[in-house]
Amino acid sequence: MMELNGGAGDASSCVPSLRPSPTAQSCPRCQRLLVACTCGLSITPNGGNLWGLDVVFATGYDNEDLLPGDVLDIENCESQPGNDLDLASPMCEKNQQHDDFISAVELSTDNLPGALKDPTVCVWLRNCSPLVVRLLRNNVATGRALIISNEVGLTVPCDQIHCGVRGEHVLHGGIGIITNKHVVMNTDQAATTKVEFFYNDDDKRDSVVKELGHQLHFTNRKMDYTMFSCYVHDRDLVKLVENLDLRRQHAWGCIPRHIRQASSAFAIVISHPHGVVKKISFGRVIDREMRCRNAEEKRNFQLIRFLYEICAKNNALERFAAYFAVYPDLPLPYTITWYDTATCKGSSGAPVYMGNIVVENGVEINQAHTHRGFDQSKGYNNCFT
Ligand SMILES: [Zn+2]
Ligand SMILES: [Zn+2]
Ligand SMILES: [Zn+2]
Repeated sequence: MMELNGGAGDASSCVPSLRPSPTAQSCPRCQRLLVACTCGLSITPNGGNLWGLDVVFATGYDNEDLLPGDVLDIENCESQPGNDLDLASPMCEKNQQHDDFISAVELSTDNLPGALKDPTVCVWLRNCSPLVVRLLRNNVATGRALIISNEVGLTVPCDQIHCGVRGEHVLHGGIGIITNKHVVMNTDQAATTKVEFFYNDDDKRDSVVKELGHQLHFTNRKMDYTMFSCYVHDRDLVKLVENLDLRRQHAWGCIPRHIRQASSAFAIVISHPHGVVKKISFGRVIDREMRCRNAEEKRNFQLIRFLYEICAKNNALERFAAYFAVYPDLPLPYTITWYDTATCKGSSGAPVYMGNIVVENGVEINQAHTHRGFDQSKGYNNCFT
């Protein structure tokens, strides 16, 4: 088993290179005063509490970027670590759903809905779960980790001021985090978002790995989709994410075909509702609707699909992503999917598994969508695809 070091380092050796002084020092990353910067990383006189939650509440998520006329309840929330949802948020207006959340580490075949009740589905979900991360800035949201292969092997010097690890050292690239655009909208926000890997078990909080986001990689306003990179202290963490991703894909392939097909009627969410330890919830897809407003969108869609197919055939999907990134606001049609799965504040940005299949190099991959929020006009959760 490989050893993972948290970004905050060993508490006993955690001496920041700069200490607060009577003269104001500003953070090079977020330009705030060091003692309470928006990174949520306070530099305390005794060098402890580098990851203290008390300073995480400095700024609010900016919700201005929502679609016009959108009546969405944004599901970010204040941080409530722990295991019990009713304790974390007794006043939650959806608290009748709290019993529907299953602890991710305790998931068993018995918890699965009828058509999916098979041990292979349980194994697959238990392999999806480790890649789900908790995101913290002033609020809590959820994201999922993946590999950005052209950043594997890259390093950047660690920002000394934010780190408790002594001496000059580098951070390792290769990990990307997918979440909503309304959670992380730009590089400033990416660089001040804390990413917590492996908050799976409240009794094992020591194994949680905490890092900071690095920069925005790709964002799409209309799809409410963001991917940002996350450079980490432990190179092995990049390898681990790569392995977990392969295991997840392999586990999907082990599910009998008729069950894989049946899974498109279900919406499975893995998230940190109210910021508590990782939970899984099951529900059904209620409705899907394609929104195509004009001929231009349709033409763009056909062109993009043509480009995608050529790139996929030539094993060059990264090139496709690069092309696509040039036109982040290209008018495209999109599909809205509604589902009744339990979600709460903190579930924003979480993966939703709805049996969506892409085939890459002959291998069937289950591609998650990204949970947005609760659509008040419909009375159900929604996501864009
Ligand atoms: Zn800062
Ligand atoms: Zn460092
Ligand atoms: Zn709730």
